[in-house]
Amino acid sequence: DIPVIYLITPTHGRLEQKADLTRLSYTLRLVPNIHWIIVEDLSRKSDLVTNFLANCKLPYTHLFVATPDNYKLKEKDPNWLKPRGVLQRNKGLQWLRNQTGVTGVVYFADDDNTYDLRIFEEMRYTQRVSVWPVGLVGDLKYESPKLRNKKVVGWHTYWKPERKFAMDMAGFAINARLLLEHPRAEFRMTAGRGNLESDLLTQLGVEWSDLEPRAEDCTKVLVWHTRTEKSSLKNEGKMKTYYNTSSD
Ligand code: UDP
Ligand code: MN
Repeated sequence: DIPVIYLITPTHGRLEQKADLTRLSYTLRLVPNIHWIIVEDLSRKSDLVTNFLANCKLPYTHLFVATPDNYKLKEKDPNWLKPRGVLQRNKGLQWLRNQTGVTGVVYFADDDNTYDLRIFEEMRYTQRVSVWPVGLVGDLKYESPKLRNKKVVGWHTYWKPERKFAMDMAGFAINARLLLEHPRAEFRMTAGRGNLESDLLTQLGVEWSDLEPRAEDCTKVLVWHTRTEKSSLKNEGKMKTYYNTSSD
C-alpha cells in the first residue's frame, strides 16, 4: 500500500484553462495513488471544469470558492501584487480535514506548472515536510534548498532570502498528519508578498530539522514554474472566407 498523494490545484477561468488542465491531467494519469482536489476560483462549478473532470480518468474532488473582488488581480496589475489561489488552497485543506481517516501527503500543484513524474515518487514518503528545487522561478534558473551534510541550512534564492522557508509553492510537500495536527493552519492573505509558503510552514510548527531534502540531495530539478503565455484573440470576428473559384 503506497501512500496517497493529495494534489490541491487552484484553477481560474481564462482562455488557456482547458489546455493547461488537459496537459496536467495527462501527467497525473501516470501517477499511481493520487487524489486530485481541484478548486475553482468561481462562485459555482463551471461547466468547463465539470465536463473536463468527468472525462479526466482520475480520482478527483471538485470544489469552488470565489476570490473576492478586492483580492483579485486587475488586467494591468503585475502578478506579484496579490497572492493567487489562496482561498482555493484553503478550501482544499478544509475538505481534507473534513474527511475521516486521511493519511498521505499533500502537495499544492498549480495548474500551469510542469511536473516530472519522479517528483511524485520523491514526495510520496514524506515524514513531515519534503523539499526540492523548482526550475524557472524567482527570475533564476532555479530556486533550491541549500544543504550541508544532507540537511537543509538555507536557500538558493534572490528574493527575500531571509524568509524562514524561502520556497515556491511547488517546492515542498507536507504529510497530511501535520495538517490535521494543526487544524487552523492555512494560507493567509496577510502573510506578505511572497511569504505564503513560509507563513504556512511556520503555522505548522515546522523546524529546519523537519525538512527532508529530496531529488538527489536537491541537485535535480523535477518541477518547473512554467507559465502559459496569454493568447491574443485580436483576429476573432475579422475572418472572411475566400471560396475556391477555380474550375478544376
Ligand atoms: N489562480 C486562481 N485565481 C486567480 C489567479 C490564479 O485560482 O485569480 C490559480 C491558477 O490557476 C494557478 C494558481 O492559482 O493554479 C497560481 O496562479 P498563477 O499560475 O497565475 O501564478 P504564477 O504562476 O504567476 O505564480
Ligand atoms: Mn503559474
